[in-house]
Amino acid sequence: MSIFDNIKRNLEKVSDYLSLTNAEKELLLSHKRITKATLNINGKVYEAWRIIHNDALGPAKGGIRFHPNVCEDEVKSLSFWMSLKTSLAGLPYGGAKGGVKINPKELSEEELEKVSRAYIRAFHEFIGEDKDIPAPDVYTNPKIMGWMLDEFEKIKGRHEPGMITGKPLELGGCVLRGDATSKGGKIILDLFLEEEGKSPEKTNVVIQGFGNAGMNIAKMLHDAGYNVIAVSDSKGGIVDKTGLDIEKVIKTKKETGSVTQYPKAEKISNKELLELETDVLILAALENQITKENAENVKAEVILELANGPVTSEADDILHERGIVVIPDILANAGGVIVSYCEWCQNKTGHIFSKDYMEKILEEKLTQAFRKTYDLYKEQKRFSMRNAAYAIAIRRILDAEKARGNLD
Ligand code: GLU
Repeated sequence: MSIFDNIKRNLEKVSDYLSLTNAEKELLLSHKRITKATLNINGKVYEAWRIIHNDALGPAKGGIRFHPNVCEDEVKSLSFWMSLKTSLAGLPYGGAKGGVKINPKELSEEELEKVSRAYIRAFHEFIGEDKDIPAPDVYTNPKIMGWMLDEFEKIKGRHEPGMITGKPLELGGCVLRGDATSKGGKIILDLFLEEEGKSPEKTNVVIQGFGNAGMNIAKMLHDAGYNVIAVSDSKGGIVDKTGLDIEKVIKTKKETGSVTQYPKAEKISNKELLELETDVLILAALENQITKENAENVKAEVILELANGPVTSEADDILHERGIVVIPDILANAGGVIVSYCEWCQNKTGHIFSKDYMEKILEEKLTQAFRKTYDLYKEQKRFSMRNAAYAIAIRRILDAEKARGNLD
């Protein structure tokens, strides 16, 4: 099943509740603009995409991913999730995503800069602070956003810092952006566990993925008293049921390139890590990690999706049946795009917000999104939290389409 097939299947689960018409389904399952280019760097050709799913609520928003597995199906799916994420968070944005099929780990810094600038030369017509606003995603970072802004402004002959978010601070970036996804994930997890009457001290956590999102949330949860018992990266995992010393694990990762080099824990495979007994399993890597193949073996009580799309639609049904709650990506990882929104507001207006004010916005927007989702999830007995989040997000998009006169 393709990633977008999973989305179609998930949409069906809320179709009756929302009384979706065929026209509405067709609109939700189509993309406003699919653009594709080939980037020619030093004689090698790389495929690249920028895809807008929907922009009824405002300019499209979403990151750019550099990864060897990037393909059109993935970018289409990621752009759909961005539409739902920005809608659920109550932001004035639509959803988009971009990607380059490339392995950035094999590139020199000079080549990486060439790819970043070539990407903007290929897609600049379709990007802008009131059209479509990129940001970092898997294997892209503030430095890349800085090159992209520079290339864009050179082409246009004027400044427009709001055309991209997640920039370096010197170029109008935002202090909170670096660890915003993790901060948001922690806010949502805290809210959920509070509802369930569970305290951090009594909560064991397993984290798959130790990139920006996984590493930062590991540190935040550890500092807040949670017991992080296992973590992994692309090379494998480590487990210590008494709790890992996260500061030291981070040091090991930075020095050796992998958490598996941490000497004081048992080594496990990624597969084993997903099947560990734990209160919370945080998925902070890539899509399709829990599928119908391994969903029966998951022993976590709660799954927090910090990555986009790590649990497939079929796996969702199995987990729901087994009483395992999945806190969905469009809620759990919305912290990144909420802080991107603060950055964009500052760039557009020239105002400079205090850190406290932006933290307040992050907290407020996430709390509102959580409350709405949790309440509907509790009210609709058959619903998973994903169904509830999808229903709320989709309704807001369709209402905007109706207000525009695009739907009856
Ligand atoms: N790439 C991030 C996401 O998937 C952030 C997007 C943004 O800040 O626009 O949510």
